[in-house]
Amino acid sequence: MLRISRDCVTDCLQAGQAPAKYCRDGEAVAFETRDCYDDNDITEDNPYGNHKGGLENPATGPLYVMGAEPGDVLKVEIMEIRLREYGIMRTSATAGAFHHLYEDKSARRFTFQKNEETGREGFWFDDKLWLDCDAMIGVIGTAPAGEGVLTITPGSHGGNMDCARITAGSTLYLPVNVPGALLSIGDLHARMGDGEMLICGLETAGTVMVRVSVLHGESYGKLFQALPLLRTETEVMTIQSAPSLEEASLLAARTMERFLASSAGLDDVKAGMAMSLLGNLVICQIVNPLLTVRCTLPLKALEIYGVRMP
Ligand code: CA
Ligand code: CA
Repeated sequence: MLRISRDCVTDCLQAGQAPAKYCRDGEAVAFETRDCYDDNDITEDNPYGNHKGGLENPATGPLYVMGAEPGDVLKVEIMEIRLREYGIMRTSATAGAFHHLYEDKSARRFTFQKNEETGREGFWFDDKLWLDCDAMIGVIGTAPAGEGVLTITPGSHGGNMDCARITAGSTLYLPVNVPGALLSIGDLHARMGDGEMLICGLETAGTVMVRVSVLHGESYGKLFQALPLLRTETEVMTIQSAPSLEEASLLAARTMERFLASSAGLDDVKAGMAMSLLGNLVICQIVNPLLTVRCTLPLKALEIYGVRMP
């Protein structure tokens, strides 16, 4: 399988970046990622780490997908996420829901092990609480059309969405804004609750295996008016980011309504009612420069109307 080394990292997704690798349409590619602290050897005793000048929230890439042109959609099937053997959490005294409680940075490392009863990988939070790993991708995005966007920021190109549903088995649809799409991936979390309240998930490094395919206009018609769009085994969701949760919520709801109305052929009254009966608005994260909300619909409801995701 084609591999992109963890040596190829960036802190900005942007047009014109030299590709780390080129791949064919439909090819599987492995991205080796660093953690969000740029693997700065953070420990309980040394919450600032050992080396200065690292990248903030580095993403591995970019991958140039041959045949991808502006206006196309990049389909990214997340096949597998392999994690390194430990994760790190670190508090912030300036950001996150609880920053007012902390005077300085504190860090904890959690080492992963197999639960002998369940066979699942996880870790002891303390001597009482066991938590399973539930690996997700924090940063995944294509290059935006105009100016570059830092990897700490989410947007219509994807980026730092911190959506806990971007896991192995899900499929993410991203816009192609520049030739080759220029896909980058980083910021793995061993697990994270919706909201990412503290300021981080259980930050870790690893390898992400994806299959990337290019969808051209004629093959999807009106299906992808708003991106990013995520499909899991049971749900389809829009993921939208904005300066406030209210704006992000409205964007996520309205883009999902448009998706439902146009793909299922419902008028706006019927689609709006269906949204209110079946849809869920969920906060992805409240800690990045733009805040992110997803709006979910059950895949089954779409299938009843004959909607098939390519
Ligand atoms: Ca993140
Ligand atoms: Ca993170």
